[in-house]
Amino acid sequence: RSLNLADPSLLVDKAFVAGQWVVAPDRTTIEVTDPFDGALVGTVPSLDVGSLRRAIDAAHAAQPGWAAKTAKERSNILRCWFDLIIANADDLALILTSEQGKPLAEAKGEIISNAGYIEWFAEEAKRVDGDIIPGASPGQRILVLKQPVGVCAAITPWNFPNGMITRKAGPALAAGCTMILKPASQTPLSALALAVLAERAGIPAGVFSVVTGQAKVFGQEFCTNPKIAKITFTGSTEVGRWLMREAAGGIKHLSLELGGNAPFIVFDDADIDAAVEGAMTSKFRNSGQTCVCANRLYVQDGVVEAFTTKLIAKVKALQLGQGSQPGTTQGPLIDEHAVTKVEQHVADALGKGATLLLGGKRSALGSTFFEPTVIGGVTQDMLVTQEETFAPLAPIISFKDEADVIAMANDSEFGLASYFYARDMGRVMRVAEALQAGMVGVNTGALANEMAPFGGVKQSGLGREGSRYGMDGYLELKYVCLAGL
Ligand code: ADP
Repeated sequence: RSLNLADPSLLVDKAFVAGQWVVAPDRTTIEVTDPFDGALVGTVPSLDVGSLRRAIDAAHAAQPGWAAKTAKERSNILRCWFDLIIANADDLALILTSEQGKPLAEAKGEIISNAGYIEWFAEEAKRVDGDIIPGASPGQRILVLKQPVGVCAAITPWNFPNGMITRKAGPALAAGCTMILKPASQTPLSALALAVLAERAGIPAGVFSVVTGQAKVFGQEFCTNPKIAKITFTGSTEVGRWLMREAAGGIKHLSLELGGNAPFIVFDDADIDAAVEGAMTSKFRNSGQTCVCANRLYVQDGVVEAFTTKLIAKVKALQLGQGSQPGTTQGPLIDEHAVTKVEQHVADALGKGATLLLGGKRSALGSTFFEPTVIGGVTQDMLVTQEETFAPLAPIISFKDEADVIAMANDSEFGLASYFYARDMGRVMRVAEALQAGMVGVNTGALANEMAPFGGVKQSGLGREGSRYGMDGYLELKYVCLAGL
């Protein structure tokens, strides 16, 4: 599949190791295909551990020099990277859609909004302030310095091939850390395009490498190599748990952004049209493949009928198709396994008494398409309420009162995003405080932006990305006791 890029040099088939574009020593490659129809988009190297270690060694060697630059110097380079991403957003979107499948407009939106993390942390680089605390005895002062943690390894998923990188690389590089990134094998081309622009922006050799290869082997090396100080991961809870165990040997810093099972609650005092709009955004963006997607729609008895009717009308209007075609609002799922999973969730729910209201089956468009689906009469014991579906399936569960719905919403090992629609001030505060989640959207279905701390509680993860708090994960505090003054 040839892409019509304004700058064809953004599509690369080499990995970026220690400032050099490399192939695997044995020339093995990984094929990157379009989830729309399986067409080959490109290949990337399947690097060996030796190549990975070169990237790690280079990151380790480059880190003190990078940290020694003034914050303003690092800031200017990051700003330049941001400008280049924005200037090339159309090409980056074409690359992203070809390997991931999402509609082109969504791809461009991802690129532009997540470039914001580079812009934001370019600014924050200059605000890594320390503290001077009064001493515990005469002639003493307590100084608090903030220093970069060191070499960071990032592992990112396929659902946001571009955005999950900028939100990690931005704060890491701003803080004076260096980074080795392993993108998802399904979507490495977006990551490599970002590396092309990083090099052009003047990020020094070794400061930011992108390595492609076997996930588990690379993960193991990241966890055990003593030169790696921190691992930042976005992906499944299962892999997050494994990384945490493996990294325990070296007591490495960890940031984990894992699975979710977001409740989306509509109370009877809500603006129903706004709630339907929010549910559409939260549930169907990226065909339901985001970790903050509404997974369970809880709607209060009195408004469940009105909400369901309006939701179905909106879901019917969704346009399935190839992401690059104008008018497409729903691209394919990432692979057939994803289709099988949603099929199982639907079958399980219907088998336990739910009602199919719309869709419910594979689409004729191809093996990675599932029709946007709405089911009603869902209960707490079904797979759809227990597990993250990661697909365009909206299950509606009716509830009686506030206590009832809070108990159901919190009945999960996950705690990433949550949403609710209500107008009553007291209820808004009570519910926002009671939901066990790292993020609560009140009267909105969209949460992520670079100004806000993104992250989860419970088994949804550790640490926050974005906002002034986002820098903390890449900094160590050092206490200097200044005595004899
Ligand atoms: P999903 O593919 O469902 O988003 P994964 O957790 O499997 O979630 O993948 C997220 C990222 O983690 C990808 O880059 C993938 O290649 C990587 N990955 C998968 N398994 C491992 C592993 N054992 N160690 C390190 N990284 C892994």
